[in-house]
Amino acid sequence: MATIDKQVESTPRARDEAAQAPRFRAIPVINPATGDEVGSVPATPRGEVADVVARARAAQRRWAETPFAERAAIVRRFHDALLDASERVLDTLQDETGKTRRDALAELVTVAGTARYYLTHGEGHLADERHKPAVPGLTSARVVYKPLGVVGLISPWNYPLLLPIGDALPALLAGNAVVIKPAELTPLSAELGREVLLASGLHPDLLQLIHGKGSELGPELIRHTEYIGFTGSTATGRKVAAAAAERLIPYSLELGGKNPMIVLADAPLDDAVSGFVSGAFANSGQTCIAVERVFVEQPLYERFVEALVERVEGLEVGFSHDFDMDLGSMITTEHADKVFSHVEDAVAKGATVLAGGRRLPDLGPAFVAPTLLTGTDQSMAVGCDETFGPVVSIEPVESAEEAVELANDTPYGLNAAVWGRDADRARAIARRLDTGTAGVNSTLLIYNSFDVPMGGAKDSGVGRRHGAHGIRRYTEEQSIVESFSTGGGYESLIVRSNSKTRADALITAFRLWRKVPFIR
Ligand code: NAD
Repeated sequence: MATIDKQVESTPRARDEAAQAPRFRAIPVINPATGDEVGSVPATPRGEVADVVARARAAQRRWAETPFAERAAIVRRFHDALLDASERVLDTLQDETGKTRRDALAELVTVAGTARYYLTHGEGHLADERHKPAVPGLTSARVVYKPLGVVGLISPWNYPLLLPIGDALPALLAGNAVVIKPAELTPLSAELGREVLLASGLHPDLLQLIHGKGSELGPELIRHTEYIGFTGSTATGRKVAAAAAERLIPYSLELGGKNPMIVLADAPLDDAVSGFVSGAFANSGQTCIAVERVFVEQPLYERFVEALVERVEGLEVGFSHDFDMDLGSMITTEHADKVFSHVEDAVAKGATVLAGGRRLPDLGPAFVAPTLLTGTDQSMAVGCDETFGPVVSIEPVESAEEAVELANDTPYGLNAAVWGRDADRARAIARRLDTGTAGVNSTLLIYNSFDVPMGGAKDSGVGRRHGAHGIRRYTEEQSIVESFSTGGGYESLIVRSNSKTRADALITAFRLWRKVPFIR
């Protein structure tokens, strides 16, 4: 297949779009690892948002009538083309985030996995469902799933391809148009995702991007769309929920976490250490489901910490377009400042640094060494606030009971991990954690388990992505019930119970009904 570059250049529709694109203020995109400007996007004036949504709505009407197989064919081509364009995708992801190539690869394959899952299973999730009728044999009941119209997606900077495009795919497959407001720091990957979708045959008005400040464009997008899917911080999520509530439109909130990992005394040491390193330091800790707190059963604690410190001190930090780095840059110097302030605050209040605990200015202004702390508590920022960087606290616990109590002692409830050789015991502990998702002998696996719902409990969110829910959330669930029509249908049964004899017959029928298998 030709590269996406060439396909887009040769598409008349793309040329028309480029010619018609208004000349708006450019928002520069900076690689935080190098300080280089790596691209720019035109800022969308707030007043344009209504027009963008109107164009999307016009295109959506025809799209809603398009058979699922045709929609899926576009997503299938997108899946293949995105993988074919992997070098460009990885470069773009790295250049606008400063992340490692391996982290970019993880993002790419997760988008491909999302596409594969929904193009294969989406139709089944959206098929009409027959349900138990009011009166068997005389009535029927079914649920149908209808597209909502225009879906608005607001996304953060940490996974700038996966979060906007991954969430757009099921919305499109369900027959909606989508307008995305990517994070202003990282708009290029979502633009590239759109470009690949257009080259795969998607009408340009069905997936549009708006660029600029979230506090300006976000509320405007919510004002005009039929659904809002928000991924970002809990603080912004509350504002989004309030704005969506004002319009009574459905929404989902995928928010922050303070995710615990419980290491049981029987956990295989090396595996648990490896699991921790990827669970805590993937994407340099800037992952909503990343491990930020570890509770280790006392008998294993010393050995676990010793092995962990050795492993963490050997991690390679830096920026390169090769697959050789373990951790990359924080997204901005300001974010690195915030992450490091959690270390300083903890140390000032008595915590001990086991590994890291320093900035890496030789590499750039936004690099923070992977850091392990112990002796932390809830009086410290690191003990209660989301750090969203490579800083983790590790504490010994007397029992799994204590670990569960500490793990649940947070307003967040996103993801959790339990490591142990006895999978039944680990699973039983996982069930007691107040989180939307939990992994047994895994930390980030949930994001690639596309068939199960993923989202947060407590302050970590409302709603779920993935699985049947992840596509049905973009639909109006309509119940259609049918009745025999003779004599006015089902409703007339009560009207016709106009004598004691008839009423008794009805009551007797109800008495019997409860006892009849299959139809009760
Ligand atoms: P953020 O809340 O600052 O911004 C997220 C998006 O919201 C951006 O596009 C921003 O422009 C927009 N925005 C800002 N103000 C807005 C407003 N008033 N109305 C509407 N939109 C507005 O978050 P961030 O710093 O970009 O991202 C990091 C956060 O995202 C972390 O808390 C992380 O845990 C969370 N996150 C959660 C998940 C998940 O699936 N649960 C995934 C990734 C990131």
